[in-house]
Amino acid sequence: MTELQTRFTTEGLVVKESDVGESDRLVTLFTREYGIIKAFASGAKNLKSKKAAATSLLTYSSFSILNKKGTLRIFEATPQATFFTIGSDIETLSLSQYFCELALEFAESGVPNEELLRLILNSLHFLTQKKKFPPLIKAITELRTAVLSGYMPNLVACGNCGKFESDVMYFSLTDGSLSCGECGKTENSQILDRTLLSALRHIVFSEFKKLYSFEIPEKSAVELSKITEKYITVQTDYDFTALRFYNSVCDY
Ligand SMILES: [Zn+2]
Repeated sequence: MTELQTRFTTEGLVVKESDVGESDRLVTLFTREYGIIKAFASGAKNLKSKKAAATSLLTYSSFSILNKKGTLRIFEATPQATFFTIGSDIETLSLSQYFCELALEFAESGVPNEELLRLILNSLHFLTQKKKFPPLIKAITELRTAVLSGYMPNLVACGNCGKFESDVMYFSLTDGSLSCGECGKTENSQILDRTLLSALRHIVFSEFKKLYSFEIPEKSAVELSKITEKYITVQTDYDFTALRFYNSVCDY
């Protein structure tokens, strides 16, 4: 846990915002140096205020903050990048919200988690730039978040006989293990063809700079996204509100 100074600057993504009274905001920031922090931004609802844009949801900004006995107040904020565009489609919006929810769930207060922050920022970038099929971005984000948060599946080989791959493999949602076609189905498992298996392995094992550089057919990406979603949900036993909303509006 990093001790907060009485006055400090940091950069971070606004992952949650709520209104306080007539003109103030309370924002939750996923910061580079301090993980998750909550801070008040007075006058931030005034659209003429410089703080308004910088403290809006899905904006990455630099902040100057005063810490008075643990209560944080933003006194200056400058936007660096925004991942919210007016007129965004509902899929982009709901997935963006879901990525914020992942950050809120897995990043900790006062603890830096640069890898997770980099993942969330890159996924938001690919999503808003429409550079990749959204279910594939979702699958990458979910599984890599799980890996970074202590829920690493064991995708090296069949857990029973050690076979590296076969036409059909089974992926256990319960313990993240693999089983080959010959050893047979394990409890609470998902069936994987070779495309799905190599996609899962890529997301788990690739270095970050290559993480997003692969493509699979859209039909496979949709299947992959269902599997990674079930995996992170079963592993964490967490009910992601934004994920439920995404599934209610995006029916693949
Ligand atoms: Zn086997």
